[in-house]
Amino acid sequence: MTIAGLDVGGTKIAGVALRARSSDGAAPASAWTEDDVLVRTHRAHRIHGPGALLDALEAAVRELDERLVEQGDAPIEAVGLAIAAWLTRDREVVTWAAHLAVRDFALRSALADRLGMPVAIDNDANGYLLGEAAMGAAAAASSSILIALGTGVGGAYVVGGQPLIGAHGLGGELGHVTVDEQGPVCSCTARGCIEAYAGGNALARDAAAVPAAVALAPGGRATAVHLERAARAGDATALAVVERAGWAVAAGLRRLLPAFDPEVVVLGGRVMLECADLLLPVIERELAAHAPLQGVPQPRRLELARLGGHAAAIGAAVLASR
Ligand SMILES: [Zn+2]
Repeated sequence: MTIAGLDVGGTKIAGVALRARSSDGAAPASAWTEDDVLVRTHRAHRIHGPGALLDALEAAVRELDERLVEQGDAPIEAVGLAIAAWLTRDREVVTWAAHLAVRDFALRSALADRLGMPVAIDNDANGYLLGEAAMGAAAAASSSILIALGTGVGGAYVVGGQPLIGAHGLGGELGHVTVDEQGPVCSCTARGCIEAYAGGNALARDAAAVPAAVALAPGGRATAVHLERAARAGDATALAVVERAGWAVAAGLRRLLPAFDPEVVVLGGRVMLECADLLLPVIERELAAHAPLQGVPQPRRLELARLGGHAAAIGAAVLASR
């Protein structure tokens, strides 16, 4: 059986086709490997509204099917979708997907009707960690949490292969853990969330006040990339902003570790992975200096995500395989 996984972000759709494990119990779920990924696709989109979303998802599934036929593999029989959106608790309805202009849309049933096959949906961060837990940085771990530094800061908590959903579908939104009530305003309108310091948009905001970053930016519109370059060139102000982002991640983890006690902490997202050499030492130093529950031995792994840009698509396929 072949299962598709799709990850719809603000500007692109990543897709995979996964060879599903037989359901006779012969292979445990932890036996997934990257060899089970039969096809990977990646395409830009300009989705605006629910109709365009359905069209783009159908096209992505067709593209995967064409590639499967070309290489002699079985066609897709089920689809998992990871989407950058707020979802209802039952994972049936997109409450709000800001980047896609989709609001209050019963996506799961509409997509299942369009494709004529079973569909499962979760948000992109849950998909990301399900992928890493299936065959990446958290493989074989009984529980894990994710902090993903992208445009914002995604988060997820997976235990026993299941993501935490919560009473309102917002469980695992770890990027919105408060680390300073007097801190900068976050995209969620609260102050001092991890995201308000360590997300790509927050770093771009801070970069605008770093002359060395502005000097590197065409037209003076500095982003996290220019901030990173200025920091790597040794600019003290840029380094202080990066340091503060690392502090915020560690401060958030300090609050999360006693709550979840995960076996593995997965650190991912484009900003984290591109700046790991700058951020990881700060995170590890801050965590060591202010570790919670210090009187209790807590062997715990801090791991960088391993599956690259297809992690959430892989996780979505794993979700649909159940
Ligand atoms: Zn927030």
